[in-house]
Amino acid sequence: MTNWHSFYKRPWSERLTILTDNQNLTIDEQQLMQDQYDDIGAQQVENYIYNFGVPTGLLLQLPVDGQEFIVPMTTEEPSVIAAANNGARMMRQGSGVKTKRREHLMRGQIMLVNLSDMAKLQQFIQNQELQLLQIANDAHPSMAARGGGAKQLTIDVLDENTAAVNVLIDTKEAMGANTVNTMAEAVATQLRQQGYQVLMAILSNYGTEALVEAEVAIPVTALATKQGVSGQTIAEKIALASHLEELSPHRAVTSNKGILNGIEAVVLASGNDTRAVNAALHAYAAHTGQYSGLISWQVEHDQLVGRTVMPMSIGVVGGSIGIVPAVKLNHHIMGNPSAEQLAGIIIATGLAQNLAALRALVSTGIQAGHMALQAKSLAIQVGAMNDEVEQLVAQLNQTNQINAAMARQLLQKMRD
Ligand code: NDP
Repeated sequence: MTNWHSFYKRPWSERLTILTDNQNLTIDEQQLMQDQYDDIGAQQVENYIYNFGVPTGLLLQLPVDGQEFIVPMTTEEPSVIAAANNGARMMRQGSGVKTKRREHLMRGQIMLVNLSDMAKLQQFIQNQELQLLQIANDAHPSMAARGGGAKQLTIDVLDENTAAVNVLIDTKEAMGANTVNTMAEAVATQLRQQGYQVLMAILSNYGTEALVEAEVAIPVTALATKQGVSGQTIAEKIALASHLEELSPHRAVTSNKGILNGIEAVVLASGNDTRAVNAALHAYAAHTGQYSGLISWQVEHDQLVGRTVMPMSIGVVGGSIGIVPAVKLNHHIMGNPSAEQLAGIIIATGLAQNLAALRALVSTGIQAGHMALQAKSLAIQVGAMNDEVEQLVAQLNQTNQINAAMARQLLQKMRD
């Protein structure tokens, strides 16, 4: 066995040799890593070996704030992009999605422990707010120069000896994690000099100061199914399904996962941090104390109306956005939106995804559409070649058994 010691310092070719020897990789597996090598990827992460490709497809004509956007979605799950397009099609029959960003501040938390006099801390922060904000801004002056920067200080008393001092920062077109951490650490240094015990200074991903409201109204007629169920009936069932998400966290988590199918695909394609968005959305889903669905649907007159409020801390500069060519391409495809527009696009994608999923669930069930798309994955999985896939998928869809055994059997028959 070869030693893994200092793997991160080795040139890429040596890393492949070590990996191949230790894990007995085949020639094909080695070739895959060679083919998927990327210079930029090699600079992005530690112990780099190859780039993992995830398919990217388009969500077409997503109606947001009076414009229609072409939106790249990056995901491995077969039904996601089809469902988002289906949702967007229904949304285009109404007035489209309207969004409103309430504010856009990121929060840096400086966690103070072993406090002996909470009132004294509160007084100190109140008296020193301007000076501390100046210290924060001096740590990254260009952010204030573009009209952003540290704007406000607040305190959360966590227990009698513990508090979080919050620096609220406008990071403009960036998500701002690094800016926030730099500013929070600068304020932490000052607080330490004043004798406070700082356990840590770090941004919070719970974007309660970065909330975006969105609303979409769809004429119920747009929801009618091919099987002859009226749009009014579907709309009422969707509203009922939405109510169930307030009663059952088990149902709400699954619905929110579906919303995130769309949201994460756009967040990833746009070079933003999927984990940050995901963590914030799940936390916000429980902000009332009861975990529930992120989107609510109601029937109002002859329309189905979807409403949501979501924290959305994303950027159009920074992180991998300026570095990765595919991300730059994706921003170009969307028309190079601002951070505020991109937040709207992401949330509108979530609305489209949720609408399509709920409509399927309350009518034909989710499996009909899923399994039709799953058939393609199964065909590839059992070894169908490019020119065989279409025929095998058609045959599989005619059976009521869309599974690997059936796919294998049909492929064998096709080849005999
Ligand atoms: P960067 O550190 O790349 O910062 C973005 C920079 O872009 C700004 O600091 C600014 O630098 C520059 N910039 C140029 N034009 C603008 C503009 N119009 N508005 C704002 N900034 C502009 O990225 P972020 O600070 O946004 O951090 C995001 C990254 O941090 C992501 O990769 C994320 O995964 C990662 N991260 C996430 C954490 C978390 O979520 N908990 C923790 C740590 C990292 P200048 O002012 O010098 O021009």
